Amino acid sequence: MSVSIACPVCQSRAVARSSRKLSDTLREIRYRCENDECGHVYIAHLEAVRTVVPSALQVSALLPLSPHSRAGRLEHA
Ligand SMILES: [Zn+2]
Repeated sequence: MSVSIACPVCQSRAVARSSRKLSDTLREIRYRCENDECGHVYIAHLEAVRTVVPSALQVSALLPLSPHSRAGRLEHA
């Protein structure tokens, strides 16, 4: 599955051209609008924001738990 954000100018499909890591949870993605009459090039951010199912690895939590996570449901059961 690829993630795309429609061109904010003309709402046409846009294609990711490149990306770079800004932090362990944040990437910057450079998109180019596929509408030849537009050609808008813009930056979007892709960020991991919360945990839905905790990792099985024994490391400290990197992200806050989602209220919809398994652990969240157990706490509220
Ligand atoms: Zn466009």
